[in-house]
Amino acid sequence: MSIKKYLISGISMLLLFGITVACGGETKVVSEANGDKVVNVYSARHYDIDEKIYSNFTESTGIKVNVITGKAPEVLGRLKSEGADTSADIFITADIANLYQAVQADIVMPINSDMITKIVPKRLRGENNEWIALTQRARIIAYDNKKVDPSTLSTYYALTGDEFKGKILIRSSESTYNQSLLASIIAETSEEEAKEWAAGMVLNMAREPKGNDRDQVKAVAAGEGEIAILNTYYIGRMLNSDDPEEVKAAEAITVFFPENTQMNISGASMIKYSKNQENAIKLLEYLVSPEVQTLYTDFNYEYPVNPDVLPNEILSSFGEYSLQDVSLVDVGENNRKAIEIFGQVGWK
Ligand code: FE
Repeated sequence: MSIKKYLISGISMLLLFGITVACGGETKVVSEANGDKVVNVYSARHYDIDEKIYSNFTESTGIKVNVITGKAPEVLGRLKSEGADTSADIFITADIANLYQAVQADIVMPINSDMITKIVPKRLRGENNEWIALTQRARIIAYDNKKVDPSTLSTYYALTGDEFKGKILIRSSESTYNQSLLASIIAETSEEEAKEWAAGMVLNMAREPKGNDRDQVKAVAAGEGEIAILNTYYIGRMLNSDDPEEVKAAEAITVFFPENTQMNISGASMIKYSKNQENAIKLLEYLVSPEVQTLYTDFNYEYPVNPDVLPNEILSSFGEYSLQDVSLVDVGENNRKAIEIFGQVGWK
């Protein structure tokens, strides 16, 4: 590094520090002209362990990770409006629907890393590596272990049977988790059958959809319904929560994997206009390393994408499952149709 570059880098570090203080601890992304020791992440993942992971990365590489967080539509909107002026190097988000949208918006580029393509199975990467999965989460059935006989459970489709009338708890159709579930059912069957399923689910709901995934488990515990649909990691988080009400609720349910369980992902893309591409690749490689994959599964109870890492024991205690055989790209593509169907069947 030349003395001039060193000085510029030093000044921008000072600026960064100054801005951080001025904003009362809010992280501010600063684009570093020399691209040496920084990587800028726009993230829609909302889990505590991520911060720890980024600080571990900084400790071992000296590369500072600046993170801006927000809800996926906000972050995507910002990336689109900033275009080539963005300081973002990496987009991280939950849900294939959001990664698919980033590809459609033409704001990402292929991730070129032999290490990553060796580690992450093909089904967990975009067709041209425009995105990679960082973690997996199954959308499962959680049943009241006092009221439901698990031998009555089988598939997502079977939940539309008359015997489940007034018993199903699931959040609203605004949730991308639900949109991707329906999108995957479209990919697995047909629009027609997916619509029948969604209509049948609406008829069997215990109440109008409300709350988040955890709230569905709490509603089972409160006796509002008997069967909840939610992502696996929330159960691990609730069982380990500081809130005794959450622990109690999670203990009231048992996980059932429907035949052909839907596995969604959280994942990452490289921004097409990245100014710190080498650092971005280093961070992405780190995120799929056994070290980080172990943190994701042990602290956020997500399934690893690195086949060398075993899922946390809470996840393995849920038992065996069979996966739905659909492509994640199709699930992303079907998002629009899923939203239409939800509207047609009146799934709030
Ligand atoms: Fe979540």
